[in-house]
Amino acid sequence: SLAGKTAVITGSNSGIGLGIAYELARAGADVVLNSFTDSEEDHALAAKLAAETGVTARYIQADMSRGDQCRRLIEDAGSCDILVNNAGIQHVAPIPDFPAEKWDAIIAINMSSAFHTTAAALPKMRAAGWGRVINIASAHGLTASPYKAAYIAAKHGVVGLTKTTALETAQEPITANAICPGYVLTTIVEKQIPDTMKEYDMSREEVIEKVMLTRQPSKEFATVEQMGGTATFLCSDAAAQITGTTISVDGGWTAL
Ligand code: NAD
Repeated sequence: SLAGKTAVITGSNSGIGLGIAYELARAGADVVLNSFTDSEEDHALAAKLAAETGVTARYIQADMSRGDQCRRLIEDAGSCDILVNNAGIQHVAPIPDFPAEKWDAIIAINMSSAFHTTAAALPKMRAAGWGRVINIASAHGLTASPYKAAYIAAKHGVVGLTKTTALETAQEPITANAICPGYVLTTIVEKQIPDTMKEYDMSREEVIEKVMLTRQPSKEFATVEQMGGTATFLCSDAAAQITGTTISVDGGWTAL
């Protein structure tokens, strides 16, 4: 059981982050939800999760594009035994047309945020004598596709950061691993369907079948519950010697 542990999940007011928060809470961990907004709905999500699972849940606003706010999130959380770096955005465009400000935002939110939160969290894990760093990379942290230059660079970077974090904590009861999801039907995927339709001159159904799931041999989207189950496994004693590696949850994508 993860009772007594606190999990901080960045970018967790929707999608995979929220799914992971639910599974960690079902395993007994108290959770801190986060995004850059600070709405009533955000705080209500935490209250709902707490009511449904019986753990303590809080929502803390912090913008993961800002290093100082990443670090402040971990400080405001108090304890941070489990850090899940999940916040991420996407933009789809060929490199010559790729807006520089999108490049900068994706590198900041999808990659640099994990550096800042990890830097703030490791001293807390060391003080607690136990820790888990779980970075949500992607199949695109291991392979590439056209038109996603910033995302793919950032996710490959996250895999590299994961390995370094593991080596720096190798002789301590702390592990660092990356989960590499294939396609999961969340808003980040919904939002890239129109641009991909434009790039490839395809219908929505064709994009899903011929672009997205063509890379996923199972021909099924992975689910947020499966990501949560994998994160919960990485927090278990069985996973204590699993560190510095990636776990693909991608329906066979990276076997191709
Ligand atoms: P999502 O859009 O539902 O979730 C992204 C989350 O990040 C949201 O909660 C959003 O509020 C948050 N976020 C965005 N900008 C932020 C900022 N500046 N500060 C704080 N939070 C911010 O999409 P998702 O699919 O749940 O994505 C979660 C993670 O999983 C991302 O890192 C994504 O790259 C990764 N991933 C997703 C898929 C997929 O197919 N959905 C596949 C591989 C990897």
